[in-house]
Amino acid sequence: MKESLKNITPFENKIWLASPTMHGDEQKWVDDAIATNWVSTVGANINEVERLTAEKTGREYAVALSSGTAALHLAVKLCAEELYGKPAAGHGALEGKKVFCSDMTFDATVNPVAYEGGEAVYIDTEYDTWNMDPEALEKAFEIYPDVKLIVLAHLYGTPAKMDEIKAVAKKHGALIVEDAAESFGASYKDVQTGCFGDVSVISFNGNKIITGSSGGMLITDSKAHADKARKWSTQSREAAQWYQHEEIGYNYRMSNIVAGVVRGQMPYLEEHIAQKKAIWERYEKGLSGLPVKMNPWDRENSSPNFWLSCMIIDESALAPMVRGEQDYLYSSEPGKSSPHEILDAIASINAEGRPIWKPMHMQPIYRMNAFITKQGSGRGQSNAYIAGSVTDAGADIFRRGLCLPSDNKMTPEQQDRIIDIIHRCFK
Ligand SMILES: *Cc1c(COP(=O)(O)O)cnc(C)c1O
Repeated sequence: MKESLKNITPFENKIWLASPTMHGDEQKWVDDAIATNWVSTVGANINEVERLTAEKTGREYAVALSSGTAALHLAVKLCAEELYGKPAAGHGALEGKKVFCSDMTFDATVNPVAYEGGEAVYIDTEYDTWNMDPEALEKAFEIYPDVKLIVLAHLYGTPAKMDEIKAVAKKHGALIVEDAAESFGASYKDVQTGCFGDVSVISFNGNKIITGSSGGMLITDSKAHADKARKWSTQSREAAQWYQHEEIGYNYRMSNIVAGVVRGQMPYLEEHIAQKKAIWERYEKGLSGLPVKMNPWDRENSSPNFWLSCMIIDESALAPMVRGEQDYLYSSEPGKSSPHEILDAIASINAEGRPIWKPMHMQPIYRMNAFITKQGSGRGQSNAYIAGSVTDAGADIFRRGLCLPSDNKMTPEQQDRIIDIIHRCFK
């Protein structure tokens, strides 16, 4: 361990990566649900959070669901049935079909493709916003011209290059499922994320910009899609007196208790974004003398929600580090550092950072799936950086980047101590 990292007093209370921030109104709406006995998957809180979500994003319909993942599943299924028709078995709507997916994201973005029997083809990441690379997407259509569905995420609350991606999708007649799970409240050219997909998704998981403890929202401008999502999420009951089923159903509806928490959080979305933005800016300023950069965004065209602050180490200042499937090893060098040295240093003062999302094409579960970069197939190139030539942006950002403690309850003084620890890593 570096001398500069020894004997530092840890925080008494842990500084989290991103934890829930309650304001009091949440309790009121939860109490209201209980007092009125609406303790179910129907009730006023659900209706209200649907209305507020549609209003905030500017979309016609919002359907409250049990999680962002459930919303993604139904979003993928809606688009798949629109493209390929209803599967005879009731499930497997993407059987035998390829789908272009964001590569550097949480696996919840892409697992629903597999739930429906589809095969994700991973699209490499660009360096300007750390999202799906439109050039790699165009390349993928050259290689797989029959693909008709794109699943795209806005990473860490930073909008993707939507004009370029929409243009590629339009050219090839593809639908978009937009995973705005992390980016609620972020906008691109003054349009809220959540408006760029044929069907889009928001998450209210515990660590997101606002939360219900869990929960998600499917948003769309199509009444048919919204009606279908409501039906599927409540076990696909037909309009008979008895339980009549003509389609496969799911138990995916949001609880009215969870919706009470979301309802209480809604008025604080902008406040949380302002706090997260201030944290991002304080890191940018505090780290400015170091050979690192903050996670990038399009300052002209977009307003991220700054859900997580991240940084990436310049190649020239990267100390040796290797990762196995579950463990890691690094060596300390003067003037240099590595993501795990910094994460260990942050952990040593009782704060929480995290590696960048490990790209899907590097995940054992998806090792057989195709991966497309600007140059074509990215398979066999993921380790190219070992030889010093980086052809795969996702692997490169994963290798050099990390997420910093981004909790909106962190004080400027606490953040300064985290910034100081990062400086010490480069001593
Ligand atoms: C959190 C998250 C999800 C899943 O949302 P849940 O509500 O946790 O199911 C999906 N995609 C991304 C990018 C996420 O960060």
